[in-house]
Amino acid sequence: MTKRYANGTLAVDGVSLEVAAGSFVALVGTSGSGKSTLLKMVNRLVEPTGGSIAIGGEPVDQVPAHLLRRRIGYVFQNIGLFPHLTVGENIAIGLRLRGEKHNDARVAELLDLIELPDDVAGRRPDALSGGQRQRVGVARALAIKPGLMLMDEPFGALDPVTRDTLGHAVRRLHGTLGLTTIMVTHDMAEALLFADRVLVMQHGRIVADATPHEMLSGA
Ligand code: ADP
Ligand code: ADP
Repeated sequence: MTKRYANGTLAVDGVSLEVAAGSFVALVGTSGSGKSTLLKMVNRLVEPTGGSIAIGGEPVDQVPAHLLRRRIGYVFQNIGLFPHLTVGENIAIGLRLRGEKHNDARVAELLDLIELPDDVAGRRPDALSGGQRQRVGVARALAIKPGLMLMDEPFGALDPVTRDTLGHAVRRLHGTLGLTTIMVTHDMAEALLFADRVLVMQHGRIVADATPHEMLSGA
């Protein structure tokens, strides 16, 4: 994959990458190294200028972008919950993306998955803590029952303790649901803690690709 933006910036420079189904991959690198661009090419928020991307053998450019977003869960840093809607209604947007009706039982099930009490469903996002809001963002992404989950700095705005709690919750979900997960982060500790495979990006290229164990043992 290559992405050169219209202003000439070469954000992703000929990356070749295969992600195994069911794995949890972290994409680590400093700001501007091309992580978000790479991630957004997977669900066609950004169109590559070279190369191609396939999910389960199917090239993504042959799937209309709105259909792709019904299959791929996407959690971004400032989750962007709608402030005037309740938590339940925010999660139901995920259901609607998938063509399902608002369904209190499904909302409760999703809240349960991310370990939030049912009574949170009736609250507005501003009545939640940052970590709780981030969980709601994850629940909304899970509502579409994705096979692939993309997360762009999902814990970026959280304090370390909340980050750890939520990180472990996401890790558990990944295991329970067998969800293929690609997480972008600038924080190597976070990558080593939660991922099975760590890819380091620099200037649009992948410069290291190893398991946390290999990285820590200097292999
Ligand atoms: P990261 O996620 O690692 O911070 P990005 O993928 O956001 O990196 O950015 C990679 C490079 O592409 C940076 O130099 C950034 O300024 C540039 N870039 C990102 N988005 C755009 C855009 N829409 N137009 C032009 N340049 C962009
Ligand atoms: P930013 O400009 O803050 O980086 P993004 O480009 O990540 O924001 O996303 C732009 C908007 O597109 C988001 O506010 C989000 O609502 C929507 N969006 C992105 N990906 C998806 C998806 N997979 N499903 C539904 N909506 C999405």
